[in-house]
Amino acid sequence: NKQVILKDYVSGFPKESDFYINTNGTIKLKVPEGSIGIVVKNLYLSCDPYMSNRMKKAAAGSYIESFKPGSPISGYGVAKVLDSTHPDFKKGDLFWGRTGWEEYSLLTDLVLLNKVLHTDVPPTYYMGILGMPGLTAYAGFYEVCSPMKGEYVFISAASGAVGQIVGQFAKLLGCYVVGSAGSKEKVDLLKNKFGFNEAFNYKEEPDLDAALKRYFPEGIDIYFDNVGGKMLDAVLLNMRVHGRIAVCGMISQYNLHNPEGVHNLMHLISKRIHMEGFLVFDYYHLYPKFVEQVLSYIAEGKIVYVEDIVEGLENCPAALIGLFTGRNVGKQIVLVARE
Ligand code: NDP
Repeated sequence: NKQVILKDYVSGFPKESDFYINTNGTIKLKVPEGSIGIVVKNLYLSCDPYMSNRMKKAAAGSYIESFKPGSPISGYGVAKVLDSTHPDFKKGDLFWGRTGWEEYSLLTDLVLLNKVLHTDVPPTYYMGILGMPGLTAYAGFYEVCSPMKGEYVFISAASGAVGQIVGQFAKLLGCYVVGSAGSKEKVDLLKNKFGFNEAFNYKEEPDLDAALKRYFPEGIDIYFDNVGGKMLDAVLLNMRVHGRIAVCGMISQYNLHNPEGVHNLMHLISKRIHMEGFLVFDYYHLYPKFVEQVLSYIAEGKIVYVEDIVEGLENCPAALIGLFTGRNVGKQIVLVARE
C-alpha cells in the first residue's frame, strides 16, 4: 500500500521534502473482524489550501487538527468500497469524503462520507464544484455577501476551485464581475470561459489600488477574498458604502512567518462595510439545496468547471505545494487509480 507520509511538522512554505513516499505499507483488504468500517481503494485525491495549515503544529485557536507526522496525509477524495461491515456502504459503492493519501484505506469514521449519487457528472466534481469548494462558493456568496443584481463584484484567486464558481454565480445573478489571477492563461480563462466582465493579472500590477480604480471606477460592492494581504488592503480603499467582504481565505498569508499588516481597516467604519469571515463547515445543512441548484446549472450549461488533474499518488506533494505558487489551473486533483 503506497502512502504519502508527512515527515515532520512544517514551518513556512511546505516543500516536497516535507513528505516521503512509503512503498512498503501493508493493509488487509478486509475490515478486521468485530469492527465497523470500510476498506476502500482511493481513486482521486483532492489538494486544498487548508492542508498546509494542517502540516504545521496546531496553533492556539486553530479550527482544525494537525496531521500526524509519520502517518499518511488525510484529505478529501473519491474512493470505491472493497469491503464493508457497515450497512450503509456496499462493496462497489463510490463515495466522497475524508480518506487517506494512500492506495487503500481502512476507514472507521464514516460520519463525513457521502455516496456519489449523480453519475452523469465526473466523480471528481465531488471534490470541487459539488463538494467542499462548491459549497464554500455557494455559502460565501449567497449567505455572507447578500448579493443583489447589478452590484460590482471582485474576486481574488478567481480561477481557482472556489473563485471560478463564485464568479459564475455572480454573473448568473446579473452582477458586474472582475477577477484577479496570477497568469495570462488564467486571465483568459476568466474572461473567455467563465464569462467574467474583466480580469487582470495581479502579478503585473505594481499598484493594486490603481488597478482596482481602473476596473471599478465607481467602487466595489462585494469582495470575495481568497488571498488577504496586500490585495485586501487595496480593496478596502475601493469599497463602496455598505459594501460586503466575505473573508473566505488568505492564501497569501498562510505560510509567512510574519503575516503582512492590513493598514486600511478604518474604511470599514467610514463606509459601513460588513466584513465577515466564514467556514464552510457551518453551512453543510445547505448541501442538498446547493447540489440541486448547481446540478441544474451544469445540466443547462449555465456553469462550467475547470479541473487540473495530475496522475500518480507520488505527485500529491508537488500538486499540493503548487497551490501556493499558483501552478494549478482550476481545481487541483490527483488521479490515483481509474477504477
Ligand atoms: P485555488 O484553487 O484557488 O488554488 C490556490 C490559488 O491561490 C493558486 O492557484 C494561486 O492562484 C493563488 N495564490 C497562491 N499564492 C498566492 C499569493 N501569495 N497571493 C495571491 N494568490 C495566491 O484554491 P481554492 O479555491 O481551493 O481556495 C481558495 C481560498 O479559499 C483559499 O484561501 C482557501 O484557503 C479558501 N477556502 C476557505 C474555505 C472556508 O471554509 N472559509 C473553504 C475552502 C477554501 P493565482 O495564480 O491566481 O495566484
